[in-house]
Amino acid sequence: MSVTEKSVKDGVATGTLLEVKGVKKYFPITAGVIRRKVGDIKAVDDVSFHLNRGETLGLVGESGCGKSTTGRLIMRVLDPTEGSIEFDGKDITHVRGSELRHLRKDFQMIFQDPYSSLNPRMSVGTLVAEPMVVNKTASRSEIKDRVAWLLETVGLSADARQRYPHEFSGGQRQRIAIARALSLRPKLIVADEAVSALDVSIQAQILNLLADLRKEFGLSYVFISHNLAVVKHVSDRVGVMYLGRMAEIAPKDLLYSNPLHPYTQALLSAAPEPKRHVQRERIILVGDVPSPAKPPSGCAFHTRCPKVMDVCRSERPILKDHGGGQIVACHLYA
Ligand code: ADP
Repeated sequence: MSVTEKSVKDGVATGTLLEVKGVKKYFPITAGVIRRKVGDIKAVDDVSFHLNRGETLGLVGESGCGKSTTGRLIMRVLDPTEGSIEFDGKDITHVRGSELRHLRKDFQMIFQDPYSSLNPRMSVGTLVAEPMVVNKTASRSEIKDRVAWLLETVGLSADARQRYPHEFSGGQRQRIAIARALSLRPKLIVADEAVSALDVSIQAQILNLLADLRKEFGLSYVFISHNLAVVKHVSDRVGVMYLGRMAEIAPKDLLYSNPLHPYTQALLSAAPEPKRHVQRERIILVGDVPSPAKPPSGCAFHTRCPKVMDVCRSERPILKDHGGGQIVACHLYA
C-alpha cells in the first residue's frame, strides 16, 4: 500500500483530508553585518504523510525534531521550502491572501499555552465570538447563541462569557481555546502539545473532550506531543519524527506493540508502561541529537543507532510499507 492510499474504517471509506508530500522547511542561518547566509537549519527535511477524514494522527519525537514546524506548515503559517500540501483535495502549498484567509476557517491550531493565544483584555464571550465576527459567518444574535452553545459543549458554564481568561484555571483556559477553535466549524485541528502543561487528571479531561468533539463534529486531528502515553491515548496512527524526518508511521497498536525502527524502539523502551506485564528492555541511546544545521549523512539516526550498518552512513533510507500500514525508513528492513 502506498503512503497516499485511502483507508477504510468500520467498512466506510474515509478518504484523505490532508496529504503532505516531500515537504521541507529550511530556516537560513545568517552571519555578519550583511547577514550573509552561511547554512540552513533543516527543521523539516522531506516529510510525507496523509491524514484521513475523522482520524487522529499523533506526531512524536524528541524536542527539536520538527513536530511544531510540521504543524505550522500544515496550518500554512509557514511556507514550505519544498514539497506540497493538499487539503480536502486542493493543493494549498502556495495559496495566499483572501483564499488563504478563507481556507483558514477549515483548520485551527490549539497550543500548549492557551494564555498566550487568548487576549487577556477580551472577555471569554468576545474571544469565542471573534473568529465568527471577523469572518462575518452569522448575525449578531446567531453568534451570541453559538457562543453559549460552544461554551456549554466544551464544558464551561454560560456565565463564563462575561469573565476574563485570567479568572480560569489552565484546563478551563484550554477549554476556552478549544471553543474558539471550533467556532468556525473547522475540519482539521492541529493540537501542538495541547495538554503538556496540564496536571495529569486535567490532561485526561481535555483528551476526552477532544475525543468527544471529534465524533460530534467529524473533526480530524494532527496531535503533536513529546509524550508517548498521551499520543497513544488519542491517536489512530502515530508518526515518529527524528531530526526533521519521519522514521516510522503506523497504526497505533502496531507501532506500540511491534515498533520496527530502532529509534521508535528506543523511545518506547524509555517510556513507562504501567500496564505492561513484560517490561521492554531499556535501550539507551548514546550521544545527543545532532544539530539540524548539520544532520548526519545517510540515515540521520545512524550516529546513535544501536543497529547501525555501513549502508546507513551513506544512503538515506526511504519509507517502505511493511504490512498493515506500518511504514518505516530503515535499512534493516530493505
Ligand atoms: P519540535 O516541535 O519537535 O520540538 P521544532 O519544529 O520546534 O521541533 O524545531 C525543529 C528545529 O527547527 C529546531 O532545531 C528549532 O530550533 C528549529 N526552528 C524552529 N523554528 C525556527 C525558526 N523560526 N528559525 C530558526 N530555526 C527554527
